[in-house]
Amino acid sequence: MIDPAAEEAAARRDILRIGAFLHQKSLVAASDGNISVRLSGGRVLTTPTSMSKGLMESDDLVLVDLQGNKLAGRRNASSELAMHLLIYELRPEINGVVHAHPPAATGFAASGIALNQALLAEVVLALGCVPLAEYGTTGTPELSATLRPLVPHYDAILMANHGVVTYGDSVMSAYFKMETVEHFARISIVSHILGRQNLLGRDEVDKLMIARQRYEGITTAAALGANCPVVRDERAAPALPAVAPAAGNGKRRW
Ligand SMILES: [Zn+2]
Repeated sequence: MIDPAAEEAAARRDILRIGAFLHQKSLVAASDGNISVRLSGGRVLTTPTSMSKGLMESDDLVLVDLQGNKLAGRRNASSELAMHLLIYELRPEINGVVHAHPPAATGFAASGIALNQALLAEVVLALGCVPLAEYGTTGTPELSATLRPLVPHYDAILMANHGVVTYGDSVMSAYFKMETVEHFARISIVSHILGRQNLLGRDEVDKLMIARQRYEGITTAAALGANCPVVRDERAAPALPAVAPAAGNGKRRW
């Protein structure tokens, strides 16, 4: 039997800790980003609009229902709450959502490049791959419409010209996926700079996907699409342009 008061108190602690992590690790700037936890009884605890996620206190958090109506709190929820509510609607097993603007992963989103290459076994295990949702104006139904087809299949999504959203069975697992996405984006850039990306092959990825289901007990996310993840020998066109050899002056071009 869930004690609603204890459940809410634990969620408040988790959101404040994750807000501090997002800020300290520069995964957000200024008042960017938002975090939510699904509670029992159709309630959602979330972060306030227009406030640094590193400076929040418990009474800054806002309690809403699954339609976004405010139930309690002196501040207002972010207009990006609709994205969180969409994920809770489409994924009953999800209990926590994190949205941030991590610089490397958001760079991919701003460049129109999905993080969908089978470069790292751990990322294939954790996320399958990270698709890119088309651009939609923040805080409008347009954004939800671009996310809707992807949410049932993935646990982390790049949003074009915007940022990243991750979600999990707990808000801590959602947060750790955000760290994984950003770390993967940085490693992808390094491998690109080095000029060669040795992708895993289809057999290796298939084994990882089977291990993933056994390892994490997750079957709902990270369905393998034609390009998710992109594996060795199957790249019709490289997701990142090849690095050309230096043309005399030692400089590389992207
Ligand atoms: Zn945002």
